[in-house]
Amino acid sequence: MRADLLIENVGQLLTLAGPAGPRRGPAMQDLGIVEDGVVAVKQGRIVAVGKRGGFEGSITPDNVLDAKGRVVMPGFVDPHTHAVWAGDRRDEFEMRARGATYMDIMRSGGGIMNTVRKTRLASADDLVRESWPRFSYMLAYGTTTAEVKSGYGLDMENELKMLDAIALLNVEQPVELVPTFLGAHAIPEEFADDPDGYVDLVVDEMLPEVADLVYRIGEESRPDDPMPAPYVKAAEFCDVFCEEGAFDLEQSRRILARAKELGMKLKIHSDEFRSLGGTALAVELGATSADHLVVTPPEEIALLAASDTIAVALPGTPFGLGKPEYAPARAIIDAGGALAIATDLNPGTSWCESMQMMIALSVRYMRMTPAEAVTAATINAAWAIDREDQIGSLEIGKQADILILDTDDYRDLAYRYGTNMVAQVIKAGEVMFEE
Ligand SMILES: [Zn+2]
Repeated sequence: MRADLLIENVGQLLTLAGPAGPRRGPAMQDLGIVEDGVVAVKQGRIVAVGKRGGFEGSITPDNVLDAKGRVVMPGFVDPHTHAVWAGDRRDEFEMRARGATYMDIMRSGGGIMNTVRKTRLASADDLVRESWPRFSYMLAYGTTTAEVKSGYGLDMENELKMLDAIALLNVEQPVELVPTFLGAHAIPEEFADDPDGYVDLVVDEMLPEVADLVYRIGEESRPDDPMPAPYVKAAEFCDVFCEEGAFDLEQSRRILARAKELGMKLKIHSDEFRSLGGTALAVELGATSADHLVVTPPEEIALLAASDTIAVALPGTPFGLGKPEYAPARAIIDAGGALAIATDLNPGTSWCESMQMMIALSVRYMRMTPAEAVTAATINAAWAIDREDQIGSLEIGKQADILILDTDDYRDLAYRYGTNMVAQVIKAGEVMFEE
């Protein structure tokens, strides 16, 4: 068999291969490790993977990559980011460092609205230019696919502009993006006295527009094209910030139920500061994921763990705010839940592009093992964005999104922190980053 690429001499090959379905409970501990492994890639897909000596003699590769006894694993999947925005919130960060409270910052015009004002003033091209370096950092730190939300526009024109920018970035830079509509990120200033009026706008006007919106990628395909699909959805998911001061449970239900009717998949920000019942709502509506979960009560943890909804913990957010409360990952996993982790990359609470940092935080502050954290950053993260059939593990037929680490023991991803353990990043079979 011909192959484009053969990666050989792999010390620890983390395949993350396993049973169909997200990894739950004790299964999160199993990374499907093959010692002394090889991986073969053809046309961007994995065509063979396993122990050396098994099959590679029958493979004629165009290129051979010597992993030199180091770790080879799937690319990281970051299933929750707000990576596209304009401006920064350095002033607020310094105010907090000097002891300012959330209310002080709000009164000085800060918070999400600060970023909304700057994002509304930017063009789609400005947003692409300003956000681009964030995706370069993601790639360099091993993220090969990321979910990205709108939500700094908060009106029809500016939400669509954000989705345009996400689509442009998806085509123009190597990190693959999965777009989410988060028109219900905050109540915009012009609706401060009429929050339900804004919910009406989201439900009656924005969602019907966004649910059907598609972009054409490249040239029109011919009927005999092996890979046609020139259209991509502007937003696959609808998300809501269900939180005190943002959207209450009934408003969240109206928005998500309408999005579901329109054929969108669902996500929710729930239980970051106050528990409003958003996690139970996610389970009830069959959401793909429920995210944050810092203050989720035990009965909702049980509901979530017994459901198909993926729990997404965002340890960068409490760390970014310098707060001691993290999502109860141990309780979720021990209850049999499927947990993923994400950066929550955003300018207010977590400007961090690195999933390696999230692994380091998960092990220290959420009492996860290094193996559980790797599972949460790969295969379960793929489940959290409905990409489990394409990415998240190294199995035959999956996209060849592969990392070579600068270590022979994957536990260094958690044990060491702040330095980049990724030596090489391969996206769909092509080397896209090299140390
Ligand atoms: Zn978020």
